[in-house]
Amino acid sequence: EAKSAGRSSFCFYQQGMQERVLERVQLESDLRHALENEELVVYVQPQWDAQKRMIGAEGLLRWLHPERGMVSPGVFIPLAEESRLILPIGDWVLRQACRWLSKWHKEQQMAGFVLSVNVSAVQFAQEGFVQQVESILNEYQTPPSALQLELTESMLAHDQQDIISKMEALKALGLLISLDDFGTGYSSLSYLHRLPIDQLKIDQSFVANIEKGTKNASLAESIISLGHNLGMEVIAEGVETSAQFDWLKQQGCDLFQGFGLARPMTIEDLILLYRSAD
Ligand code: C2E
Ligand code: MG
Ligand code: MG
Ligand code: MG
Repeated sequence: EAKSAGRSSFCFYQQGMQERVLERVQLESDLRHALENEELVVYVQPQWDAQKRMIGAEGLLRWLHPERGMVSPGVFIPLAEESRLILPIGDWVLRQACRWLSKWHKEQQMAGFVLSVNVSAVQFAQEGFVQQVESILNEYQTPPSALQLELTESMLAHDQQDIISKMEALKALGLLISLDDFGTGYSSLSYLHRLPIDQLKIDQSFVANIEKGTKNASLAESIISLGHNLGMEVIAEGVETSAQFDWLKQQGCDLFQGFGLARPMTIEDLILLYRSAD
C-alpha cells in the first residue's frame, strides 16, 4: 500500500519535471524568434531625486508573447542567459537606449536625463564587450554621460584585475556605472573601492519594512554611508511607500525608484510624465 503510493507520487513528480523541461525548451525556442518578431519592448521606470524631480530611468525588458501574454524578465532573462540569447538581446537593448538618447540630444530635450541599462554577467564577460559598447555609442552619436550601465555584484566574483580593467575601459568611454542589487552578492568590501563605480543601488529586499526600524534599516543605513564614503551616489530600488521614501531621504539616500513613485511604463508615457512636471 505504502509502496505503491510512494511509486505513484514518484511518477507524478517525474511527469511534472518533464512538463517543466518541455515548457522551458518551448519558451527558449520562442525566445529565439522574439527579437525578429518584435515581441520585446524596453519599458522604463523613472528615477527621482530627493525633491522628487525625475532625473533618469531604468530600462526594463518586457516580452509580449503572442500566446502567453506578458512574460516576466525574471523568467526569460535566466533562459536568455543559459542559451546565450542574452547577447543579441542585450545588444538590442543597448541600441534602443542609445537611439533614444541621441534623439533627445539632437532635439535638445530631456537635458541631463540618464538612462540606465541592465547588463548581464554573460554580456560583461564576453570578449570585446567594451568595443561593442563603444561602437554603439559612436554609431548613434550618443552622449556617453547620459548612459549608465547596471552591473551586478555577481560579476565581480571572477578575476579581479580583469574586471577592474574592463570597468576602467568602460569608464574611459565617458559613461556611468551602477552596481545593481547591492548587498545581495558576495563582493568583497576591500575590492569595492578599487572599482570605478558611480552609483550603488540598494536592493529592494533591504527597502522592505525599512521604516519600521528593522534589521533592514541598519543594513540600508550602512550601505548609504559606505557608498558615500567611497564617493558614490546611492539609489534605492523598490520604494513602495512614502514612509520608505521619507526614511531613506532622511538617511541621505540620493535617488529613489519604485512603484510608490512610478511603475515601469512605455517610453512615450515617460516623456509625457517628464513634460507634465515642467
Ligand atoms: P532589476 O534590475 O533589479 O530591476 C528592478 C526590478 O524591480 C524590476 O523588475 C522592477 O519592475 C521591479 N520593481 C521596481 N520597483 C518596484 C517596487 O516598488 N516593488 C517591487 N516589488 N518591485 C519593483 P522586472 O522589470 O521584473 O525585472 C526583473 C529583473 O530582470 C531586473 O532586476 C533585471 O535583473 C532583469 N532585467 C530586466 N531587464 C533587463 C535587461 O534589459 N537586461 C538584463 N540583462 N536584465 C534585465
Ligand atoms: Mg537593474
Ligand atoms: Mg536592481
Ligand atoms: Mg533587483
